Amino acid sequence: MLDLTYETPKPKVIAGAKHDWELVIGLEVHAQVSSNAKLFSGASTQFGNEPNANVSFVDAAMPGMLPTINEYCVEQAVRTGLALNAEINLWSAFDRKNYFYPDLPQGYQISQLYHPIVGEGEIIVDMAPGIARKVGVERIHLEQDAGKSVHDMDPNMSFVDLNRTGVALMEIVSRPDIRGPEEAAAYVTKLRQILRYLGTCDGNMQNGNMRADVNVSICRPGQYEKYQETGDFSHLGTRCEIKNMNSMRFIQMAIEYEARRQIAIVEGGGKVDQETRLYDADKNETRSMRSKEEAHDYRYFPDPDLLPLEIEQAWVDDIKSTLPELPDEKKSRFVNDFGLSEYDASVLTAESENAVFFEEVANGRNGKLAANWVINELFGRLKKDDKGISDSPISPAQLGGVIDLISSDAISGKIAKDLFEIVYTEGGDPAQIVEDRGMKQVTDTGAIEAALDEIIAANPAQVEKAQQNPKLAGWFVGQVMKATGGKANPKAVNQLVAQKLKG
Ligand code: ADP
Ligand code: MG
Repeated sequence: MLDLTYETPKPKVIAGAKHDWELVIGLEVHAQVSSNAKLFSGASTQFGNEPNANVSFVDAAMPGMLPTINEYCVEQAVRTGLALNAEINLWSAFDRKNYFYPDLPQGYQISQLYHPIVGEGEIIVDMAPGIARKVGVERIHLEQDAGKSVHDMDPNMSFVDLNRTGVALMEIVSRPDIRGPEEAAAYVTKLRQILRYLGTCDGNMQNGNMRADVNVSICRPGQYEKYQETGDFSHLGTRCEIKNMNSMRFIQMAIEYEARRQIAIVEGGGKVDQETRLYDADKNETRSMRSKEEAHDYRYFPDPDLLPLEIEQAWVDDIKSTLPELPDEKKSRFVNDFGLSEYDASVLTAESENAVFFEEVANGRNGKLAANWVINELFGRLKKDDKGISDSPISPAQLGGVIDLISSDAISGKIAKDLFEIVYTEGGDPAQIVEDRGMKQVTDTGAIEAALDEIIAANPAQVEKAQQNPKLAGWFVGQVMKATGGKANPKAVNQLVAQKLKG
C-alpha cells in the first residue's frame, strides 16, 4: 500500500466570525442497491418506466401480502460492508418505521434500526496526493425506499408514483469525523467510487440513486478532541441535518452556508435548534423543514412479518473471496508497478473501466508513456466528443500500437498525435497507416542534412545571427521540421544544426 500521511484537519476559520470555529460533519448516504428486483417483492426496479409500472401487490400493500427478502440485495450489502473493512453481523433484524405519507402505502418503511446488517467500518478519504483522512463508518443498514408524490403535473391534483416504493437502499452512516466541505465531497466521491467498483450501486446521483443527508455542527477548537477521547457527543455543537443532497457541489455549498448560519446564531448569543433543513440551490441557502419538537416519532418496532436475518460466515467468506481489487489497492499497484505518480494513478483508477483500459495499454510497455497518452490524449479527445471510455473509438491495442511506434523511434511525438487522430477517427492498424501514408520518422541523417544545407544556403543572414546567439538555432530546427513534414527525428536535427552552425 501507499505511504499515506493521515492529516489532522486544521480548524477552518470562517471569515467575519469573532472566534475560530471548527466544523463537524456526519453523512448518511442512501445508496440504491443495483438489483433488478426490489428488496421484499419481485417487482422490477427499471428506471424510467411508466409511473406505477413497477408495482407488485406487496409494494401496493394489498391486504395479506407478505414481504420476502431478496437474497441478492443482502449479498450486496455484505459485499459493501466487506469493502469498507466493516464488521458483518451474522444476525440482523428488520424494524418498521411508522409514518403516514401518500406515497407510502404500507404506512411504514421497513428498515434496520436496532440490528443493522453491517457494523463499524472505515473509509480512507483522499485529500491530496499522499494525504488522506480516515472517516469512521458507524453502520450500514438495509431499508426500503418510498414512492414519489408528483405535485407539478396538474394545478388541482397530486399524483403518486410507486415505482421506487420498496426498492432496496443501503444507508451508510458515517461517524461525525468529517471536518470540512471539501472533505465531505471527497468522502462521497470515495464512497461512490468504491460502490461503483463493487457494482453494488451505480452511484448515479442525478437519478437519485445515491443521495446524502448532511449533518453539520460547529464547535470551538479543542471540543472535537474531547468528544474523541470520551465518545460523549455533548462536547459537540447541536447539529442540523440537510436532507437529500445529490450533488457534490451543492453538498459543499450547503455546508459552507450552514456553518456561517450557525456561527452567526451562536455569536449573536442564540442557540442552534436541532432540526431538519432543506438546501435551496437557486438561493444558496438552507431552510427549516421541521424542528426536533415536530420530529416524527416513528414508533419503531421489529417487523412481525419478517424473521431475523441470519447469514452464515461461510457465505460471507465466499463473498469476500469474490471482491474485486478496490481503488486504494489498484492505485498503489499502479504507482508501484507502472512507476506512475500518485496523481496519475488516481486519475486512472477513478473509474474501474478506465483502469482496465489503461492496464491493457500499459502492459509490456512504458507505463508513464502509456499513462500520458491515456490521460492527456485519449481522455482529452473523448471529453471533446462527450464520450466515455466504453465508447472509445480507439481500442487499447490500437493506442498501444501508436505508443510502440513512438518507443521504437519509428515516428516522432508530433506525428504520433496526427496518427492518433487518424486512428481515432478512421480506425485501422497504426503501423500499417504509418507505412501506407509515409509517416515514418526520417532518421536518415543524409536526408536531414540535405534539407538543412538548402536552408542554410538560402538564409545567410540568419546563419550569422544564430552563430552569435545560439538561442536562435531553434529557427533552423523548425525549418527542417517544416521541410520534412514534421517527420525528421528531432534529436538528429538538433545535433546537425548545432554542428553546421559551428561551421
Ligand atoms: P439520527 O438517528 O437522528 O439520524 P444518528 O445518531 O444516527 O442520528 O446520527 C446521524 C448522523 O449525524 C451520523 O452520520 C452522525 O455521525 C451525525 N452526527 C451526530 N452528531 C453530530 C454532530 N454533533 N455534528 C455533526 N454530525 C453529527
Ligand atoms: Mg438518521
